[in-house]
Amino acid sequence: MEKLSLIILAIAIIVSISFAIQKHSEVLHDTLNISLVDTPKKILILPLNKGVKKHYLDSAISYLKHHFPDVEVILGQGIKIPKSCHNGRRYRADSVLNFLDKIKPDSVYRVIGITSDDISITRTLKQNGKLVTYPDRGIIGYGRKPGGVCLVSSYRISKNIYSFAKVVSHEFMHTVGVGHCNHDKCIMQDGKGSGKPLIESTHINESCLKKANLGLSGNSKKLLVLNMKLKK
Ligand SMILES: [Zn+2]
Ligand SMILES: [Zn+2]
Repeated sequence: MEKLSLIILAIAIIVSISFAIQKHSEVLHDTLNISLVDTPKKILILPLNKGVKKHYLDSAISYLKHHFPDVEVILGQGIKIPKSCHNGRRYRADSVLNFLDKIKPDSVYRVIGITSDDISITRTLKQNGKLVTYPDRGIIGYGRKPGGVCLVSSYRISKNIYSFAKVVSHEFMHTVGVGHCNHDKCIMQDGKGSGKPLIESTHINESCLKKANLGLSGNSKKLLVLNMKLKK
């Protein structure tokens, strides 16, 4: 009799252990399913210092949403740029990018810092056939290719709202791996120091948009092949 109750107890323990294991694996499975759901990539627009005027901001957001409908554009609360990024004259764009890199939340795919303050980099430009280096050249936007963050300033494009929107998308597209192009009136042309080709641009060329979508989908190998083909 005692043996029988021991056997029953043993069976009961085995059943409850296997039930617990099954339950646990269900939980794991559920968690896995949740993480496999394709959530849209978040693009955080981050106003720096005073940010930019509302109509610039609205125009930049709708331009981004129109061309990249699969990403989620979110607006962050304004923050101050550290004083260490200022050289007494302008904010150094590379220092600001380093700062944005540090504060970028992991949950966010890209951060686009926007400001009405003047920003600069050290830039070498071809002038009358000669290379001239400007140690503190004011610029309208800066982004790494690829990179997690970019920066756009309305300081030098204050008369053209649409241009601000185009520069925001230009820098964002650099961050997903798109380089400069030679397409007529495409926003991905090199600003060449004056920003003129960018200001006069009217659209995003289909192949630049394709590259951006490849970058967005994480297909960097295909993007590399496409970049190489276009260079030939
Ligand atoms: Zn560029
Ligand atoms: Zn282009």
